This record gives sequence, structure tokens and C-alpha cells, in this order.
Amino acid sequence: MNIADYKGVWVFAEQRNGELQKVSLELLGEGRKIADKLGVKLTALLIGNNVKGLSDKLGVHGADEVLVVEHELLENYTTDGYTKVICDLATERKPEILFIGATFIGRDLGPRIAARLSTGLTADCTSLDIDEEGKYLLATRPAFGGNLMATIACADHRPQMATVRPGVFSKVDSENKAVVEEIKVNLTDADVRTKVVKVVKEAKDIVDISEANIIVSGGRGVGNKENFALLKELADALGGTVAGSRAATEAGWLEAAYQVGQTGKTVKPTIYIACGISGAIQHTAGMQDSDMIIAINKDATAPIMKMADYAIVGDLNKVIPELIAKAKARKEEA
Ligand SMILES: Cc1cc2nc3c(=O)[nH]c(=O)nc-3n(C[C@H](O)[C@H](O)[C@H](O)COP(=O)(O)OP(=O)(O)OC[C@H]3O[C@@H](n4cnc5c(N)ncnc54)[C@H](O)[C@@H]3O)c2cc1C
Repeated sequence: MNIADYKGVWVFAEQRNGELQKVSLELLGEGRKIADKLGVKLTALLIGNNVKGLSDKLGVHGADEVLVVEHELLENYTTDGYTKVICDLATERKPEILFIGATFIGRDLGPRIAARLSTGLTADCTSLDIDEEGKYLLATRPAFGGNLMATIACADHRPQMATVRPGVFSKVDSENKAVVEEIKVNLTDADVRTKVVKVVKEAKDIVDISEANIIVSGGRGVGNKENFALLKELADALGGTVAGSRAATEAGWLEAAYQVGQTGKTVKPTIYIACGISGAIQHTAGMQDSDMIIAINKDATAPIMKMADYAIVGDLNKVIPELIAKAKARKEEA
């Protein structure tokens, strides 16, 4: 392999049912910076059936170029089909970097591609940079339960691959209009061994907390499932959503999809209200970039109080009802 032959940054633009996943746009935002540092093009890979219409959006969020691959066998994600398309393209066009969002699909796809291309993959990264001298990718990810941040480089193989955690990076807006190239592929049933019989969406109405603007989050200090109703009432009064620490999800007070932190979701709301949460590093890793943090805790020395913009020392069972009353009164005034 001659490394000098490999050029350009690629981002897999994951779409489901014709809708781009937010992490793909975040990746374009970060990919733009990486491509500019290297002085190369940023390319989005758009794969599916009847998805070409999404190209404009990829341009506006930073892509110089969109490679569109449409085929009826690519309508639904399959490991086989998508791996084949991406590996064929990467072998032919030789990108130096390939980023994939660490969604359920991305975590399935990334390792398959890396093994087929015999290259290195860093999973679930939370920070990306370019080495000033060597010009190679520096991919950083939490390891050992977040106690260690490992920065990993892939020196001798290309493309350098990373799956990247959703919610960590920000999307950028530009006036850019991407050059769109449609690529024809010959796929047969034999290429796609997985047959999607039916896509079942979980019937439960689960809110994606990483999209929420206001989050009222509860921890062990909430005490029991019933008390979470209080948090929900505050969230409703503020037009936000509830979330929680791992202590809260493990106790069964909240579903796992609502967990904030290193093994949960990363959130960046305008306001994060932490109720009865101590502020363990594994929790704060998922909410420290919130615009404003308000902490309610009995213990004035809890770590969360130090990082809070507003710290209320008190029993949440007394403080929250007062906040609810205030929020409701303001709503009525408005
Ligand atoms: C590998 C690994 C991964 C992890 N991933 C995550 C993760 O993704 N997310 C996560 O949250 N945790 C995670 N954890 C767990 C984390 O280390 C903490 O144990 C957890 O965040 C603690 O949750 P808590 O703050 O709700 O509970 P506690 O630490 O028990 O804090 C409860 C707080 O409530 C206060 N309190 C009690 N009663 C009241 C009251 N009536 N009014 C006001 N305040 C009150 C107490 O003073 C205390 O500060 C992980 C741990 C490991 C080892």
C-alpha cells in the first residue's frame, strides 16, 4: 500500500427511510475541519434507494462532494449490501479517512468494512484531530469505563477509520453547494444475503433526549419511581423532557434510552437541570457541554454543584414543586 495514493475525507451519510441521521451532519461539521487541515475534499457517501434528494442538505452542512449510490437492494440497511458498495468505492477511489456515526447501523458497518479493507478502526470516538507533523488522524475515545482517554493513530494502513459518537460534534451551516455524482452499481440478490422481512419500530413513544432543548434529569436522590412524576411535571411546564443518571435507569425508574452519560446519551441542551445527581465523571461526560446547568442537591459539596451555573442546596421534593409553580405562573402570564 502506498499511503501517498490515498486522499480525501469521507463521511458515511446514514439515512433511514429517507431521513438523514443527525450524527451524519455532526460528522460533516467535524469532517470539514479535518479536511481543511489536510487541504483535501470532504465527501459524503449517500446510499439507499431514491435518496438523491438529500444531497443538497449534505452540501449545506459542509460536504464538497456527494457520491450517491441508489439501488432497490439498498433500500434498507444490510451489512452485506452497504459493505460491498463502500468497500468497492474505497478500493477504487482511495480516501485517506472514513468516518461513520456510531449508531447501531454504524457500529455494525464500521468493523465489517475495516476487516475487508484490512485497515484500522477506532470505535466510538469523542474527539478527532490531525497530527501536525505526520498529517495522520488522531482518534480519541474513552476506554476502561472512561477512566482513560486513549488517542489512537493508524500509521500504515488506509483508509483511517473511526466510528464517532452521536451528539459530540456540532453541525455547521454553509452556503456550499456540493457536486453530486451518481454511481451505478451492479448488485444482485447474491450480494445481499440478509433479507429484511420487516422493519418494526418500537411502538413506545421514546423521545430522543439528545434533541431536547430543556432537560430535567433525575438521579438516585429522586428516591423512587413515583417521585419522577414531579420531574416530568417540571419538564412539561418548561416544555422539556426528563432524563436521568445510570443510578436512575438501573433502579428501573426510567428507561435506558433516557440515560445521560458515558454509557448513555450525550446531550447539549440549553438548560440541564440535575436533580439529586451527584455528578460522577461518567455522568458529567454526557452533559458537561450544556449551555446552562442548574443543580438541585441536598449536599452542597457534591461535584455537580461545582460545575453548575446555578446550584440550589436543598431537598428536591421541596425545591421542584416551587419551580413547577413558578414555571406555571410564568406560562399563564405569557
Ligand atoms: C463503566 C461505567 C459507566 C458508567 N456510565 C454512566 C452513565 O452513562 N451515566 C451515569 O449517570 N452514570 C454512569 N456510571 C455510574 C456513575 O459512576 C455513578 O454511579 C452515577 O452517575 C451516580 O448516579 P447519581 O448521581 O444519580 O447517584 P448518586 O451518586 O448516589 O447521587 C445521588 C445524589 O442525590 C443527592 N440527594 C439525595 N437525596 C436528595 C434529595 N432529597 N434532594 C436533593 N438531593 C438529594 C445526594 O446528595 C447525591 O449527591 C457509570 C459507571 C461505570 C463504572
